[in-house]
Amino acid sequence: MHRNESQLAYQHRPASRRLHRRSAHPGVTSCVLRSRVAEHSPVVVGGLPKAIIREAGMFELLAAELRIAELEKALAEAHEAACTDPLTGALNRRGFEQVCQRELALARRSGCRFALALLDIDDFKRLNDRYGHQAGDVALVHLVDLLRQSMRPSDVLCRFGGEEFVLMLPATTLDEASKAVARVLREFSAQALPGTDCVMTFSAGVVVHGFAESLDQAIGRADQANYAAKRSGKNRIVTG
Ligand code: GH3
Ligand code: MG
Ligand code: MG
Repeated sequence: MHRNESQLAYQHRPASRRLHRRSAHPGVTSCVLRSRVAEHSPVVVGGLPKAIIREAGMFELLAAELRIAELEKALAEAHEAACTDPLTGALNRRGFEQVCQRELALARRSGCRFALALLDIDDFKRLNDRYGHQAGDVALVHLVDLLRQSMRPSDVLCRFGGEEFVLMLPATTLDEASKAVARVLREFSAQALPGTDCVMTFSAGVVVHGFAESLDQAIGRADQANYAAKRSGKNRIVTG
């Protein structure tokens, strides 16, 4: 071992020993403590030395802190799972509403308005019927991938229902938002869906949120615009 390496090993030994004594499991902690008590004070009469008692308190505290960290991590994971669509990884409605309420408050304070786009894949049922549910799932994941590639970090994507998505674009004009969605539509419909000979399209309604409006009202207008896009032949974007 080179000198530097041996120095390093020497430096790390106490830290490693401390680490091995740590335990998130209270049973193990008290076990270690008992053996340390025996090692440090073989002849103890009428109670433990103060230093040992202090150290025992530190171990209990450390074990409690580790347990709290574990619980916080589990809570964060459960919250994320409750807010995410498992197939596509996009936010679900619950997650989207939470993020949008923050964005709504920010928009009201800053005077910056956000755009909303409601996208619905055209003739999705036909794809499922012809190629099976799995091909439908591939289409959903593919569209989310394309949307993610075109999104800015501040944009928020939600799987709103079966083959419906809502995209929220902070500080974006109607024109910018509809151009961004049109780019995704071009890419989505540029070639057949992997594993099929189906060229898929979607229809979208795009609006800019009005200050006096609730989130639901703005989504409702985007839905109406989407409906207009469907009625006028699908595979297009209508602004509202
Ligand atoms: P339109 O062009 O008017 O939007 O018609 P559409 O066929 O796309 O819409 P429709 O509402 O008739 O059918 C939607 C289908 O989406 C029906 C449902 O079984 C399917 N679907 C919903 N969720 C999922 C999913 O997670 N995976 C798959 N593969 N299909 C889904
Ligand atoms: Mg639909
Ligand atoms: Mg559809």
